[in-house]
Amino acid sequence: MKREFTTGRTIVARLPHGADLLESITALCREHKLAMGTVTAIGALSDAVVGYYDQNQKSYHELPFPGHSEILALVGTLSQRDGAVMCHAHVTLADEFGRAFGGHLVAGCRIFAAEVTVTELVGEPLTRGFDEVTGLHLWVG
Ligand code: ZN
Repeated sequence: MKREFTTGRTIVARLPHGADLLESITALCREHKLAMGTVTAIGALSDAVVGYYDQNQKSYHELPFPGHSEILALVGTLSQRDGAVMCHAHVTLADEFGRAFGGHLVAGCRIFAAEVTVTELVGEPLTRGFDEVTGLHLWVG
């Protein structure tokens, strides 16, 4: 499926020190009443955890990365799930030696500092629904 959008507002924000990264991005979207968009961010985390989707078991495993890390890149989409905006993002992080790791952004990443850019996509927002083949909540319609 595909749908065409035009770009709307761009919101640039420094996220609060000590807050949860995923929750802070979602709260920013709610605050600005964004229904659909894209998100990017850079910064640093005090503690990190990412998800990995096991395609055989059709479930997420959480991979903890305790301690400090750099957010080399966060990229994601904002769309609708169960009537609310949902941020689906992936992060690439680096440890003190520059070794990269990453995965699906889940709750539990504590912000040391983060700069986020959210771009609004204007049009009928995409919604997520359960997909039997993958076990994921993918865009439908
Ligand atoms: Zn994902």
